[in-house]
Amino acid sequence: MTTRYLSLRHWLRVLMPSTCALCGGGCDDVVCDACREAYAAVQRMRCAQCANPIAQIPSLPRRREPKLALPTAQATLDPRLRGDDVCEGANICGTCLSTPPAFDATVAAVDYAIPLDQLVLQLKFGARLALAPWFARQIRDAVLARPGLPLPDLLCPVPLGPGRLVERGFNQALEIARPLAAALGVACHPALALRTLDTPAQSGVAPSVRASNVRGAFAVEDPDLVEGRHVGLVDDVMTSGHTLGELAATFKRFGAARVTNFVFARTPPHP
Ligand SMILES: [Zn+2]
Ligand SMILES: [Zn+2]
Repeated sequence: MTTRYLSLRHWLRVLMPSTCALCGGGCDDVVCDACREAYAAVQRMRCAQCANPIAQIPSLPRRREPKLALPTAQATLDPRLRGDDVCEGANICGTCLSTPPAFDATVAAVDYAIPLDQLVLQLKFGARLALAPWFARQIRDAVLARPGLPLPDLLCPVPLGPGRLVERGFNQALEIARPLAAALGVACHPALALRTLDTPAQSGVAPSVRASNVRGAFAVEDPDLVEGRHVGLVDDVMTSGHTLGELAATFKRFGAARVTNFVFARTPPHP
């Protein structure tokens, strides 16, 4: 049986060879184990709310301590632990303490930096959609690295404007959200949020106007799904955080109890 299985795998690799999107070496996945170990396996210490890197300083302010110890990684994904009955002891950066964003937590798998930024570009502009489930697995691993993190009731991808969706043909956030929802055991609602304005891409506008660029850009399609719920927002990259902040504020206006961002890559702040 094993021999037959290996033989099938062998012939699949011969017929459909797969190469690592980073080093070009042959592998069974979109990224080889060596590249994953080198670039994506290490979890940085991040602000629990905005996911900017922070130093691990014991005297940093802490929010509510966990009421329940989670003995295993699997327990973190137990749906019974969703909601406010479990709160992680969290390090929060000075910016979030002085100017709290509308979202309550952010999970980021990696920094948006060389060479992983190339994967984001390959997914978004090269339509290498096979990368999206790999991104979702890295986000899931980042979730597992935060025991006690309350899981959302549902996931919602950051929507693209209709113009950009037609131009690109797919929403990379939705491509990540679907496998992530399956991995976390929560529902995915692709059209829960709508982008009512086709705003210019945040990467193309000056940092000083990014907040105003997305203000009022979103609407919630089904408020009944949001009232009193914990909403998870999914995107490929979080840069300034203004897009996710505006979307979180929109969900909070519709009664969301909590909003957590799940992103593959977080752009580190400029020094
Ligand atoms: Zn590789
Ligand atoms: Zn922060």
